[in-house]
Amino acid sequence: MATDPYKVPGIEDTSIDHIVKAEAYDGKVRAMAVSTTAMCAEAQKIHNTSTAVTCALGRFMTGSLLISSDMKNETDTQTTIIKSDGPIGGMTCVCDFGYKVRAFPVNSVIDTEYHHPGKVNVGAAVGQGMLTVIRDIGLKEPYVGSVELISGEIAEDFAYYLAKSEQTKSVVALGVLCENGEVKHAGGLMVQLLPSADDKTIDILEQRAAGFPDITFLMSEGFTPAKIIDLFLGDPEVRYLSGSPVSFSCPCSKEKMSRGLITLGKEELTQLTDDPDGISTECQFCGSKYHFTKEDIEDLIKSI
Ligand SMILES: [Zn+2]
Repeated sequence: MATDPYKVPGIEDTSIDHIVKAEAYDGKVRAMAVSTTAMCAEAQKIHNTSTAVTCALGRFMTGSLLISSDMKNETDTQTTIIKSDGPIGGMTCVCDFGYKVRAFPVNSVIDTEYHHPGKVNVGAAVGQGMLTVIRDIGLKEPYVGSVELISGEIAEDFAYYLAKSEQTKSVVALGVLCENGEVKHAGGLMVQLLPSADDKTIDILEQRAAGFPDITFLMSEGFTPAKIIDLFLGDPEVRYLSGSPVSFSCPCSKEKMSRGLITLGKEELTQLTDDPDGISTECQFCGSKYHFTKEDIEDLIKSI
């Protein structure tokens, strides 16, 4: 039996959301591609987002995931934030080790504008603003980088961030295709030139980037992340280094919520005990609800 040229170590089932890492051109270029259809559908369901927000949030989660893929320790985490003046207002995304992603938009329901039929104008939804990336990899201080948004279309905003804040020349492509309000396909590609890349390699990749089809079109044609990388790079020597499933996942719990409540301080917590029914809190990332009785809150006050 012939071996599968698109076989990626760590990936058995290519139908589930997954990320693939590869290198090519004698190690001068690295590439990552990811399928995030189920992840984006989950975010759509949790936040009950309208089409423009589903597309913007999906692209934002997918791009955040791609730039977070160098995490090495289980406690590493990355928070990306867009604050902007468009109707969406902004978005926050957290990527934890193991490709676990969670996110929420400031506004879930807005009108959808289109570039042309079928192509959502994400830039109009996002508007102008800032993209901030906070990486906590266990050092004394987290690394924080911030850039102005170029277009609000998300992919070029991440590429600009990588060029400006991390001095890495990158091509970033992101796509979320919605049909009747539901996520049909979602995914992304990031190709980075390492400092050793020569002008010839740079030229080849710039040419390939110029006419490259939409990621969601390729996915609808059956392209897996490994095949998307192959099509973009066009290098017969491409090496698939590793793959891993990715998912929408929130680690919230009642205990973590109570730590948040404690930060309100004694005075404010004491006011909360006025209500004999206690209080209900909701996780803004995943919508899980946690109830604290009057007694729970009194215990928290005692613990301060
Ligand atoms: Zn949660």
